[in-house]
Amino acid sequence: MKNRVSLTMVSDGGVESAVREAVRRAGGFDDLIGVGSRVLIKPNQCKPCPRRSGFMTDGDVVEAVTRIVLERNPASVVIGDGAIAGWDLGGFSTQEAFDSSGVTDVAKRLGVELRNLNTDAAEEVRVPNAYVLNTVRIAKTALECDVIISVPVLKMGSRTHVSLSLKNMKGVMPGAEKRRSHLVGLDMAIADLCTVVKPHYAIIDATVGSEGMGQYPQDAREMGLIVAGSEPLYVDVVGAALMGVTPDEVLHFRYVGQRQGMRPVLDDIDLVGEPLDAHRQVFARPFDAFCSRYPGVTMIQGDSACSGCINELTSAMIHMKQAGYGDRMNGLTLVIGNASEAGPSERTVSLGKCASGLAGTRAHAPGCPPKESEMVRVIADACGVDPGTVLTSMEEARRKVWDLWDDGSSH
Ligand code: SF4
Repeated sequence: MKNRVSLTMVSDGGVESAVREAVRRAGGFDDLIGVGSRVLIKPNQCKPCPRRSGFMTDGDVVEAVTRIVLERNPASVVIGDGAIAGWDLGGFSTQEAFDSSGVTDVAKRLGVELRNLNTDAAEEVRVPNAYVLNTVRIAKTALECDVIISVPVLKMGSRTHVSLSLKNMKGVMPGAEKRRSHLVGLDMAIADLCTVVKPHYAIIDATVGSEGMGQYPQDAREMGLIVAGSEPLYVDVVGAALMGVTPDEVLHFRYVGQRQGMRPVLDDIDLVGEPLDAHRQVFARPFDAFCSRYPGVTMIQGDSACSGCINELTSAMIHMKQAGYGDRMNGLTLVIGNASEAGPSERTVSLGKCASGLAGTRAHAPGCPPKESEMVRVIADACGVDPGTVLTSMEEARRKVWDLWDDGSSH
């Protein structure tokens, strides 16, 4: 039997009415939450942002979800998240994210506990048949609850193409554990994480989404929708489709699907409510938005180019720029995927296994995807820059963030 996902428009009845209808259409909470259930509501509160920026789950949606949960008389309800790595420092914090989204007021109004999962007690958990994380540290709140409801916002993601209910679970990894997930390969790390803390229900705040690099206000997109369902992978497939992203573009959909024996395809979903095509938009890809910042660089992408290479390359180019070599990349040609054209042999770099056919004639970074440091090395070489200076600058920038993080999280 197909798994049901609902798509509901926010109409004159407002956000709460739309969330109620979305949950009802998707089968409700009756079989999920009862007297005695301990429930974690996990919105995306990644960093302080203006309301309706499309970058963080809005308080109105969190309030509606919390009210519906409370009607099931559960034993406990916690609203919890931990801001992205590096933000729980002096000046910026998870608490500020809660404040700016309106979630702090929601918790007060409804008498529900609000918890910073970055400072929660954490436990090391073994991941069976791990892709990359044999063990992972997880906030106890997430381990000790019976029901997790992931409530992300509809947005693109620079490292993973989209950031929806599965990626939203990164917030249950406290402190510097988030760092590790980025270093080992984020899409596989998400699949590993969701093996041990799989959300039981997903509700996407698609009232306002964000495209491109998620900058406000230019990247915010009015959508006026709520997506809901009991299978987060399928809810995310519908969310991605709303942004014009096909499931095969998102690597962690593939890894989670493989792990759970599901195909991340629209054909396997019983979509109820609004017709998807009536609301589908094409959100700017983070990488395209990113490339527009490097008009002097030519990108050649073959059909097989995927977010693995694209995301590592995005980071590598940021590091080149941060090291002061943005202009030195002018005239560079970068090839990813199984491209049929190769670009000039001078100052052309092929990246990844798919483009390895060019390896003999062009500078090449091997791997699937290549490590970010390997990409930095070949790109710097092609620009006549000492790769060591870029790698050192990259490490220093990271150390700065993580040192600050360690200081901040020890208080
Ligand atoms: S080499 Fe691997 S990560 Fe890179 S584009 Fe090909 S399949 Fe994707």
